Amino acid sequence: MLLSKSFVPILKNNPSEAKIKSHQLMLRVGMIKQASAGIYSWLPLGFKIMKKIEEIVRQEQNKIGAQEILMPTIQSSEIWKESGRYEDYGEEMLRIKDRQNREMLYGPTNEEQVTEIFRSSLKSYKSLPQLLYHIQWKFRDEIRPRFGIMRGREFYMKDAYSFDVSDEEAFYSYNKFFLSYLRTFKRLALTAIPMAADTGPIGGNLSHEFIILAETGESKIFTDKRIFELNNHDIELEKNSLQQMRKKYEQYYSVTDEKFDKEEFEKVVSEENRLITKGIEVGHIFYFGDKYSKPMGASVDLPGGKKDFVKMGSYGIGVSRLVGAIIEAKFDDSDEIMKWPLSVAPYDISLIPMINKNDTSALDKAININKELIKHNIDALIDDTEENFSSKIKKMNLIGSPYQIIIGKKSDGDLLEFKEIGEATQNLSLNKIIEIIKKQKNSN
Ligand code: ATP
Ligand code: MG
Repeated sequence: MLLSKSFVPILKNNPSEAKIKSHQLMLRVGMIKQASAGIYSWLPLGFKIMKKIEEIVRQEQNKIGAQEILMPTIQSSEIWKESGRYEDYGEEMLRIKDRQNREMLYGPTNEEQVTEIFRSSLKSYKSLPQLLYHIQWKFRDEIRPRFGIMRGREFYMKDAYSFDVSDEEAFYSYNKFFLSYLRTFKRLALTAIPMAADTGPIGGNLSHEFIILAETGESKIFTDKRIFELNNHDIELEKNSLQQMRKKYEQYYSVTDEKFDKEEFEKVVSEENRLITKGIEVGHIFYFGDKYSKPMGASVDLPGGKKDFVKMGSYGIGVSRLVGAIIEAKFDDSDEIMKWPLSVAPYDISLIPMINKNDTSALDKAININKELIKHNIDALIDDTEENFSSKIKKMNLIGSPYQIIIGKKSDGDLLEFKEIGEATQNLSLNKIIEIIKKQKNSN
């Protein structure tokens, strides 16, 4: 892709309305455009990144046996009246009337909708477990939308729902999602820590929030540092190993402020292991048993002829928030260098030819390199503008492709001036560069 033809409206300076670095960068390089408070359009660069994140989330849901569906954004108030949440949800719910004067709403979450789908289709324990998920826009009329897409009113979420015959089986489903979340965030190059959390308006008793550390985060967290050393992703989807995996995490104190108990924290965590800091919630999982299945009458036939309400859990990931969360984690705002992990980078590599009016040979060379890269499925952004070297580098550092080739005096002959963004340059052949990028791609 040629930069001159791409829709990447870059601003010279940080927009003053943005308070945190993710919001600043997203506006600065034109990833998003505000439409109204807490509501954004996604422009090509931002949209490409979000779609890559979405795809990783999807693959990791599929790997634990979850099945993708798509529920609507607009829901009928009827099912919310059945569950009792139509009143409880309060002003965050955007309520709409259709032309027949029927009460509709823009879904803030989908427990009711999915329970309605389940109850009208499945009747026997033999169909269980069922793990269903969708990736869909949500609307919550947040009292204070802020930090760009981090706390939007409209946002993109993956929400999954599990249906099981007993508590024991439901915990197994819960643990599958727990594992899939660890794997998902790892592929996004994030360290997300599961923390015991309150269940809030979703209700229930077992819940974890997945939080990445960031000074600008809105969640206050209290942890035992040793939890950061855990790495339990290579395990089988088997009941006992999953149970043990969760135990390994739960052995360390790690909670958000709603669950914080100072006395306990100081009793169980030695002083050198205590960490009190802030973080961004990127995922949240809940187990709530029959909280919705009971009032909504979603039951299954059990082996002995009895019936019971199905046991449910729900599992959210903030797909659009993750774009900002990765920036918070990876953007070096003093040097103004963004390092997207290759797994979600808008482009794999930037080609930066030094061009002047009389000599376009560097651009020709870039275009030839690109032809070779395309054969290997490597997606490049070519800066074909005639700006000076330092402003080209500045722009490409903000856009943040993980690799760069600078095509100037030093990229003579077969050896190219190559660098991993923010690192020292190396002189390498194109074949070697392709090999490095492909190897990195395959490791994800
Ligand atoms: P928060 O505590 O941040 O308000 P929540 O507990 O209300 O979030 P959930 O209902 O658990 O959120 O939603 C699942 C995920 O959706 C969250 O972990 C978060 O990543 C994302 N999310 C929630 N609200 C927003 C929002 N207003 N804007 C962007 N993402 C959001
Ligand atoms: Mg939450």
